[in-house]
Amino acid sequence: MNKKIEKIAGTIVALASAKGAAGLAVIRVSGAQAKEIYTKLTKQTPRHMGASYSGLYGANNTEIDKGVSLFFEGPQSYTGEDVCEFSVHGSPVIVELLLERIKTLDARQAQPGEFTKRAYLNNKMDLAQAEAVADLIESTSIRTALAAKRSLSGEFSKRVNEISSKITKTRTLVEAMLDFSDQDLDETKHPGTLVATAKETKKSFTTLINQTRTAIRVRDGMVLTIMGQPNVGKSSLFNKICGNDRAIVSSKAGTTRDIVSESISIDGFPVRVLDTAGLRESKDDIEQEGVKRAVEAGEFADIILEVVDARDCKNKQEQDNSILVLNKCDLLKKTPKIESKKTHLVSAKTGKGIDGLLDHIAAYFIEAESSETSITARKRHMRSIQKAHSAFSLAERGIKENKALDLVAEDLLQAQNSLAEVTGEFSTEDMLEAIFKSFCIGK
Ligand code: GDP
Repeated sequence: MNKKIEKIAGTIVALASAKGAAGLAVIRVSGAQAKEIYTKLTKQTPRHMGASYSGLYGANNTEIDKGVSLFFEGPQSYTGEDVCEFSVHGSPVIVELLLERIKTLDARQAQPGEFTKRAYLNNKMDLAQAEAVADLIESTSIRTALAAKRSLSGEFSKRVNEISSKITKTRTLVEAMLDFSDQDLDETKHPGTLVATAKETKKSFTTLINQTRTAIRVRDGMVLTIMGQPNVGKSSLFNKICGNDRAIVSSKAGTTRDIVSESISIDGFPVRVLDTAGLRESKDDIEQEGVKRAVEAGEFADIILEVVDARDCKNKQEQDNSILVLNKCDLLKKTPKIESKKTHLVSAKTGKGIDGLLDHIAAYFIEAESSETSITARKRHMRSIQKAHSAFSLAERGIKENKALDLVAEDLLQAQNSLAEVTGEFSTEDMLEAIFKSFCIGK
């Protein structure tokens, strides 16, 4: 692990808006040459946060386009360097001509995510915030976008840093205690304070892990798998939930063979719904493969909708993450009494009971966070937090069992280093490459 190791090389340029014909296009430049590029292109003098409307000129003084140019003097800019932005007509030809012109003025094409990477390297934001930039751009629901914005403003990092500060407090105590002999130590309040501090930190870890789990769901969505015997109405339910006719509905058993998948949003939460083959013994090779895939999809699901025909409903054993759906309730002569909160009586045909089922699914997201406080996080963050938690748990056990304090201090340091991976206070080149290569160019 190294502290921020990357060197920042050269001035970069890229189209910051989406590719293709549009009303406007925004070209962004960052680096030491930005000021000169602004001057040569616009024949205007750049002022910090100043906008000018002017011609944008090629090498032989021909006007390529007219547009609005903005200048931000580093470090008061997105990247922390001198930055300019040119808003021009959104013609791919004009954009190409301007990009070529700017490249002749000592700038090079930016790599994916390079503007944001520079912002991180120049301490304008930490790594979790940089990742939230990508999450915000890629968000497909209002709730995810608002949660990503909260992470971008540092809310997630704040929660991580709070635990890190608590570990620092614990470490400071442990290190102070290393200087005392056992006898002298008994006369101080340190041992009692240490146990109490460690207990409080442990509680904060549990909260953070739960919040991060929800934050990952808010970002990545949940996988909802529909399972059950053939002909119980799985495909009909899938179509009802997804609001279209993606899956083929047929009275012939064994119609759905491969997994059909659709991404939807339930109450603003992203959900990937999977319709699977009916679970039954079959001699048909293709159907057997379908059943195998259905079982695998069930293993990876966050929620399983276990569909049965309401008419031959027996007392089903529910798994922890499953919701029992008694379908075809329109065919019942008498409405049965439903005991469990995790059982829903519905009709995929008439739509009865579907809203209640969707509310129940949304509740899986809301359980740990309300929409006002929800944030986004990634699996990478969870791995580091869990690594930190394991190291901290070792330290905490060591404290309780009066183990050698230098070993406790070592575990605490380990926990802190793992947490620092989340915010990127410590990072490796491989880690940064993996993170920023998934960004789009111009971000
Ligand atoms: P799957 O094999 O489990 O995917 O079941 P399908 O969705 O293909 O449905 C099997 C048959 O049951 C079709 O003829 C559907 O029209 C019918 N069906 C599905 N849901 C309902 C329902 O809620 N009520 C009634 N009356 N029929 C349904």
